[in-house]
Amino acid sequence: MALLVTKFGGSSVASIDKIKLIAKKIKHLQEEGNNVVVVVSAMGDTTDELIRLACMTGGNLSNREMDMLLATGEQQSAALLALTLQGLGAKAISLTGWQAGISSDANYSKARIYEIKAKRIKTELAAGNIVVVAGFQGLSPDGDITTLGRGGSDTSAVAIAASLAADKCLIFTDVDGVYTADPRMVEKAKKLSYIGYEEMLELASLGAGILQPRAVEFAMLYRVDVEVLCSFNNNSGTLVTEVNSVEKQRVVSGIADDRNCAKIALFDVPDKPGVAMILFKTLAKHAINVDMVIQSAMRNERNDIAFTIENNDLEKALPVVEKLVKEIGASGMAYGENVAKVSIVGAGMQSNPGVAADMFEALADANINIHMISTSEIKVSCIIDEDKIQAAVQVLHKKFELDKVE
Ligand code: ADP
Ligand code: ASP
Ligand code: MG
Repeated sequence: MALLVTKFGGSSVASIDKIKLIAKKIKHLQEEGNNVVVVVSAMGDTTDELIRLACMTGGNLSNREMDMLLATGEQQSAALLALTLQGLGAKAISLTGWQAGISSDANYSKARIYEIKAKRIKTELAAGNIVVVAGFQGLSPDGDITTLGRGGSDTSAVAIAASLAADKCLIFTDVDGVYTADPRMVEKAKKLSYIGYEEMLELASLGAGILQPRAVEFAMLYRVDVEVLCSFNNNSGTLVTEVNSVEKQRVVSGIADDRNCAKIALFDVPDKPGVAMILFKTLAKHAINVDMVIQSAMRNERNDIAFTIENNDLEKALPVVEKLVKEIGASGMAYGENVAKVSIVGAGMQSNPGVAADMFEALADANINIHMISTSEIKVSCIIDEDKIQAAVQVLHKKFELDKVE
């Protein structure tokens, strides 16, 4: 008898008809002799809809109240799924995140799970129940409701799987696996039969929306085998797992795109020790994550410094940077939201020189200008104009022959 933690995303529980479909699948898993925990997201666009309603209140959208509100979406779908399972004659119970023992820090809207006391889940499983847990939510040390960041139900599921030492975590979604690129962008994107944790973490962190990066971190840390599958067919999915053998490492496994980027440039920054420190420490103090940084060659004891941040943070960052310009004696600043990041990821690029050059060649051939570059052992990322992002993903997919990947 296996212990399975399954997760169904928003599109998989978007209507009662869909809930009925997935309930059959879940009941079948139990009938096959498995203990089954199900983590659910809110129905369809419920989370966006709740945010829209909150915006209409005229309030200042305090994080605490927003988490209180957004967590209701997952509770709805959890109860509806439990009711549907019961209607099919299965024993099922729904639990909120806190009933399931999920504790997080108090960082509202992007809280991190730090402990799961899975006693209640175990008791309910032992009583023969399918245990449906509301995803995306935890409880802060002060007993307040928190949410885990957009897409956070993935993390709830993998963290529960880790705490129960489950045999597998099955992430059911609207595509039947992890593809070489977002299938909405590249028609010929190919489903990967497997992918290593490190590569999956890079792809997720670089914008591939299929899994929340934190979920992959949990999987990697606790060695949870995660399979990404489609809710609405029985196709085999993609196994996210440990890949040690060099033969199984691909030079490039996938391409990620991220439009949530903005670029800020400071001009004529004095070239002296401590300036970058002041700039980036101040941004960090305001919880603004800096991604790529580029500093131009010095002229007349001055440099230009440009960096990228999440577009969501731009409004918060601009007054901070404007103040910094004066403080550090730069001559001015400029910003742009019309940039995007395209990245190639592959564990095999460590032992294959020339991969970055091939990437730059493909972009050059397509007349796509590169504004910034960053590399690590298993990825190369380029900041380009946003309106070229789809073309960039497509030419890179072709260049690295990803339609032939297994
Ligand atoms: P869920 O609501 O089930 O959590 P998401 O919308 O969060 O689903 O994630 C699934 C979507 O991720 C797919 O519909 C797909 O468009 C997108 N996606 C982005 N990159 C990839 C990729 N490399 N492989 C598969 N899907 C991807
Ligand atoms: N409902 C939340 C969101 O839309 C969490 C999730 O779907 O995983 O981000
Ligand atoms: Mg998701």
